[in-house]
Amino acid sequence: MLATARRRLFSAQAARWYGRAARDGRFKTLGRGDVERLRAMAAPETVLATEAVGGSADAAELEGFNVDWLSKYRGSSQLVLRPKTTGEVAEILRYCNSERIAVVPQGGNTGLVGGGVPVHDEVVLSLRNMNKVRGFDEVSGILVCDAGCVLEELDNYVAERGYTMPLDLGAKGSCHIGGNVAANAGGIRFLRYGSLHGSVLGLEAVLADGTVLDNISTLRKDNTGYDLKQLFIGSEGTLGVITGVSVVTPRRPSAVNVAVLGVPSYEGVQRAFRLARARCGEVLSAYEFWDASCMGAVLGHQGLKHPLAGEHPFYVLIETSGSNKAHDDEKLAALLEELLESGVVEDGALAQDESQIRRMWSMREGIPESLGRTGPTYKYDVSIPIPVLYDVVGDIARRLEDAGLYRAGDAARPVRLVCGYGHIGDGNLHLNIVADRFEDRITRVFEPFVYEWVASHRGSISAEHGIGQMKRDYLRYSKSPEMIAYMRRIKDVFDPNHILNPYKVL
Ligand SMILES: Cc1cc2nc3c(=O)[nH]c(=O)nc-3n(C[C@H](O)[C@H](O)[C@H](O)COP(=O)(O)OP(=O)(O)OC[C@H]3O[C@@H](n4cnc5c(N)ncnc54)[C@H](O)[C@@H]3O)c2cc1C
Repeated sequence: MLATARRRLFSAQAARWYGRAARDGRFKTLGRGDVERLRAMAAPETVLATEAVGGSADAAELEGFNVDWLSKYRGSSQLVLRPKTTGEVAEILRYCNSERIAVVPQGGNTGLVGGGVPVHDEVVLSLRNMNKVRGFDEVSGILVCDAGCVLEELDNYVAERGYTMPLDLGAKGSCHIGGNVAANAGGIRFLRYGSLHGSVLGLEAVLADGTVLDNISTLRKDNTGYDLKQLFIGSEGTLGVITGVSVVTPRRPSAVNVAVLGVPSYEGVQRAFRLARARCGEVLSAYEFWDASCMGAVLGHQGLKHPLAGEHPFYVLIETSGSNKAHDDEKLAALLEELLESGVVEDGALAQDESQIRRMWSMREGIPESLGRTGPTYKYDVSIPIPVLYDVVGDIARRLEDAGLYRAGDAARPVRLVCGYGHIGDGNLHLNIVADRFEDRITRVFEPFVYEWVASHRGSISAEHGIGQMKRDYLRYSKSPEMIAYMRRIKDVFDPNHILNPYKVL
């Protein structure tokens, strides 16, 4: 699985590097008695407890729950619970709340900000056994399912019925719909279908005290007071445990076209985007870009052939999806011709069949994993106005050069790559710095500089990955003191003992 493939690579080094929040002494240290009580609330095979707390699992069995996908954050939980029903989740939380035992809700553990793993000894509450589709309405396309359903499996399920999930991302084979909602994931269909704040119609969530908030509505319209579910979308497990999701799925497009373009400059990436919107209009469904360093990493690690004849400073993937192939083909072909003739792009390749479409997408989607295989990766996921979006990559590279830590192509320096890719239509850049290790002298060069840079351009320090543990101390760069104060008050209402996902977000 994606989540486990890379986990062990850099973890020991990362644990040393990462300066984490001190353990909050108000939380109870789990004892054998607690584990006995919690064991009785779920099926035996769903409980993983180490010998230290009276179980028989060894630390290696808990490793995948304690370490994040980037192997950057490591906790030391002694207990993993994988309940099968909402009732079990409620009983577990009621007990943990009454005993002040801290809990981390965990989905597929593909999050990139250390939100889904314990910081210290919190109990891991994994939703992976809650993975059933509860119902699908083939007229409206509304899907109701458990929170632990894997995104790709849901997409396959609705595809058989002529629909598509409104979100898609590189981690789809491992991430859960509940994790997507908790993280308010964006991804590559955002340009077309918008945010989960629009497509999630209802949620079932269990609060810290075991109260079940049944808001699993299947209504498109419901103006009956405060829309509480919106608070849980993007709450990163700090307000409640999402156990069920209702989501409206669009019709699956019957005609999909994909092209990859080679572009000489970032200015060209923007001009091509403007033309793509103007010429393809309603059928434009994705516009992704990446730079030459990302391309080098992905070709080096994914065993893919370069789609174009030569190298280019930037690459763009354009996707159109619609219901009339001849119409979409004509629009895209005309766009490509115009882009090539005007010199906005230098080269382009249009996928000729399904397998070429998949290969082009796997190139874009393989970037995060390929960079991770190149070395420990500092990842910043930021929203910046499109005209200056790529400038931050150059500014960070220059700072690292001035500090003597980086020179393009110089393998002897501790920083190997400074690169960027992202969802340009959404103003979302993934800035990545690949080093040979995580260490303070490197981090200090671009933190908090990167957050100051983003704030000075009125951007957001998190476009889609969330705050987690990584950005907790930097929230002020995107939220005013008044807003943070109200966020704290909301936290107090839903989780007065702060047992849910402590040390994260706030
Ligand atoms: C290769 C790769 C590509 C990615 N691409 C994108 C992308 O394009 N766009 C994007 O937005 N993100 C992307 N991500 C990160 C993204 O946030 C996650 O992949 C996904 O949304 C997290 O889902 P998960 O089930 O793995 O959640 P986890 O990682 O397990 O958890 C994420 C957060 O949600 C909380 N949580 C999880 N489940 C629940 C629940 N049921 N109830 C309450 N809280 C819960 C956790 O406590 C944690 O704070 C990518 C990650 C990878 C590894």
